[in-house]
Amino acid sequence: MHDGYDELAVGGLTLRGSAQGGVRTCLTVPEIGVMFDVGPMFRGVLRYDRILVSHGHQDHLGMLPYLVSQRQLMRKPPPEVHVPREIVEPLRRIFDAWAAIEDFDLAVHLHGHDPEDTVDLGNGRVARAIRSHHRVPSLCWLIERHTRRLRADLVGRPGPELRRLKAEGVEITEPHVEPWLAVTGDTRIDLFVQDRRLQEVRVLVHEVTAWDDRRSVEEMRAWGHTHFEEFVQVADRFRGEALVLVHRSLRHSKRDAQAMVASRLPASVQDRVHVFGT
Ligand SMILES: [Zn+2]
Repeated sequence: MHDGYDELAVGGLTLRGSAQGGVRTCLTVPEIGVMFDVGPMFRGVLRYDRILVSHGHQDHLGMLPYLVSQRQLMRKPPPEVHVPREIVEPLRRIFDAWAAIEDFDLAVHLHGHDPEDTVDLGNGRVARAIRSHHRVPSLCWLIERHTRRLRADLVGRPGPELRRLKAEGVEITEPHVEPWLAVTGDTRIDLFVQDRRLQEVRVLVHEVTAWDDRRSVEEMRAWGHTHFEEFVQVADRFRGEALVLVHRSLRHSKRDAQAMVASRLPASVQDRVHVFGT
């Protein structure tokens, strides 16, 4: 297995992958059938036909041409790769350059997205692009589950009455959207602070790159990243089931980060926080 690979089961999902700040980031979620970013290769990544990309830094995207060529060798279809609109053209040039070097065309379907664009994943699942705050054009990806549920004004009514209404042709259900999983990619904390969807999502995978004063908050903000001290101030706004902190710099061990979660984060949120990545 690839060094640095981790796995966590939360909110009905299995998060599997690698998330080392500045080195490699790649997360797969088998229950939804998507892969977020393309840092390293590890067992199982070739089976993902759909890839949601946060931004064009090499630790998040550098392995894409290699992944595409490996899939092609295994006769898999071209992957559907969803990226910030601004990087589609430069990416095409990269693929053209590899085609020239290798004398072999690489088949990939690149889709450029603006904030609030949606991608239908099937089975009532939708991926929504949200603008994140990094040094280059970047997107946080939010996975929503679209279902129907009993109309709010009918909750608590007896079963026979509901059956009668239904028999009379009354629509007794209404659309319901559950924010299920959000993966921020690299971002300043402003995204979490300003967008309530990030506070209410069931599982939030958020970057925290620096964990102590070896790097200052100001420095992290200038590079478009989140510092743990910033999370200490706002973590209690999280209403979901699991807050998964990723993209830890190699300066900080997992054990140290877990100790800081236990000692610094408010008790109200602490037991819902997971430090991800080896
Ligand atoms: Zn980055």
